[in-house]
Amino acid sequence: MQTKRNVLPVALMPVLAGLAFILGLNFFGCASTPPREQVPTPYGRAGPAQAKTFFPAKIKKVVVDAGHGGKDPGAIGKTIGAREKDINLDIARRLSKLLKDDGIEVVMTRSSDRFVSLSRRVDIANASGADLFISVHSNANRARSLNGFEVYYVSEKANDAKRALAAARSRPLRLKDAFFADNSLNLRAIVWDMIYTQNRGQAIELSRALCRAMADNLEVKILGVKGARFQVLWGANMPAVLIETGFLSNSSEERKLKNSFYRQKIAEAIEEGVRKYSWEAQLIAEAGRR
Ligand SMILES: [Zn+2]
Repeated sequence: MQTKRNVLPVALMPVLAGLAFILGLNFFGCASTPPREQVPTPYGRAGPAQAKTFFPAKIKKVVVDAGHGGKDPGAIGKTIGAREKDINLDIARRLSKLLKDDGIEVVMTRSSDRFVSLSRRVDIANASGADLFISVHSNANRARSLNGFEVYYVSEKANDAKRALAAARSRPLRLKDAFFADNSLNLRAIVWDMIYTQNRGQAIELSRALCRAMADNLEVKILGVKGARFQVLWGANMPAVLIETGFLSNSSEERKLKNSFYRQKIAEAIEEGVRKYSWEAQLIAEAGRR
């Protein structure tokens, strides 16, 4: 039965859009769950004013990780046989060039069609001392109608205490002008836990910036910013995000991803997202010092 239920919301859309714009929100689903005030910080669930002072002053080095490669093709499209490993590598290369043009140092976990294990990718990232980690993937799903872009960060559900203890056992802390009176494993684990919490907050901000840039520059459905437990993000000791550029299981999105012009547009949107995140981070860091 037809009802008039939808009439009022449709009429209100321009008003809501205007209001959302004023409030800094958007209708493209780039806000993540949990909402901003729910993002845990090293000070517990402190407000954004305190959390913001944690941003790095400047993004100098970025790890660009092209998902899959070599014997691992990743997803394969059914319409024209596009292979995820090739799409990911091409976007990663384009992104690296754009970031380098911005004066940012780039470390690629692979720059050719070769297999690199997930643990090796994490090791490369952590040894690089980079400010951000960006993993580029393309999606696939049994529901072939599913399409769109999404960005992932390490889920709040990830066991940070376990992660922190593993890091405390295996990774030295880079502390220049500080020392611990008590250099116990537990104390180091607490520091790692704080680092992970802080990184998650920054990864969420970066995810939102990337999502907004994609929404602004590409005609793509925005599926949003989400938390997940990808191994490659879990192990990274810097703010880390994983981008699913589109669904190779969807025939029209597969055709788009196979197009080099579209891949360039994706790379440009990611670069814009990183640049805006970096700019906002600097602004906030400076404001916090005053
Ligand atoms: Zn993948």
